[in-house]
Amino acid sequence: MSETVIETAGLSKTYGTKEVLHPTSLSVRKGEILAVIGPSGAGKSTLLRLLDGLEKPSSGEIRIFGEPFTRKTRRKIRARLGILFQKTVLFDRSVEDNIALGLSYRRIPRAERKLRAKETLEKLGMAEYAGRSARTLSGGEGQRVSFARILVTRPEILFLDEPTANLDPLASKDVESMILAENAENGTTIVINTHDQMQAQRLADRVSVILDGSVVQTGTPDEIWYHPVNASVARFVGFQNIFDASAADGTVSFGGLCVAAPASLHGDVSVMIRAEDIVLTKTQTNISGIIRSLSRRGAFVEISVETGVEFFIRIPFKEYDSSLSVGDTVFLTWNNDALVIGGNQ
Ligand code: ADP
Ligand code: MG
Repeated sequence: MSETVIETAGLSKTYGTKEVLHPTSLSVRKGEILAVIGPSGAGKSTLLRLLDGLEKPSSGEIRIFGEPFTRKTRRKIRARLGILFQKTVLFDRSVEDNIALGLSYRRIPRAERKLRAKETLEKLGMAEYAGRSARTLSGGEGQRVSFARILVTRPEILFLDEPTANLDPLASKDVESMILAENAENGTTIVINTHDQMQAQRLADRVSVILDGSVVQTGTPDEIWYHPVNASVARFVGFQNIFDASAADGTVSFGGLCVAAPASLHGDVSVMIRAEDIVLTKTQTNISGIIRSLSRRGAFVEISVETGVEFFIRIPFKEYDSSLSVGDTVFLTWNNDALVIGGNQ
């Protein structure tokens, strides 16, 4: 198990009277990529600014490389960190100068700054950009240059705040490649905020879901997208079937249906299942219902079936039985592991 490089306990932030980040305990291991996902306004940027030492917590602790930010340690810790924002910041100078500027706050002689800027551009396959005026770059190129200006400082932890939110898909892929290469080649620890869930799945070893100022779940991509801890996370990660249910004596019941559950579970829970994990069949199962609607959505068909509760089902168009129509009686089934039982918040 590799060492923990970021650790927070009870970390919170209040602006005015509003606590925008509720007490958060989080730890990040050396060399790991953690993606923080959540809707706009959830508190992602606030969390990142606290971790980077740009803002002071209202309560709680942060330890970076085992040390808290203090008047004495702050500068020394921050010299080992790098932060990249959504908005590209470039100076009206050459690309090489822009990158060398990343080193201007460190006591590094001018000649070495230039050399390291050159090396960084070469390593990133961007050598031909060196003499170009930063003004002439496209959005994607500009963001890669901003990124290079941070990489030239050789950060041990990189904080990325929605670095591709303003870029088209192709330019985003280039930035994603830089992220993965930096992590693989230098073992750099990375915390990336994103509202793009696909991006989080492509990049992250672990994912934290932040909703309304609270880190609700942290886990592997598989845990987040297939085993959400509660209804709010499930809704955010795209579960279309979320039912209020009640658990007792080893079963969970909802809408006239009953499924097995851990015996330890009692009281109000949620039953959650992805629309694409439900199988529609004409062969009898113990769940029967009536088709209420059928609609084509690109390469998929979405079907709602009333069984006492309403289920949403998503089937690839090519696998769909086109003889089905509204009013037909059908049967539903799913694999045991597709059904998730969680909290009802
Ligand atoms: P996200 O990055 O997930 O979109 P933010 O961390 O930027 O969310 O914001 C979380 C909440 O904190 C929002 O309600 C936002 O309006 C508020 N907020 C952020 N920064 C400030 C600030 N400097 N002063 C007051 N409120 C702020
Ligand atoms: Mg933000």
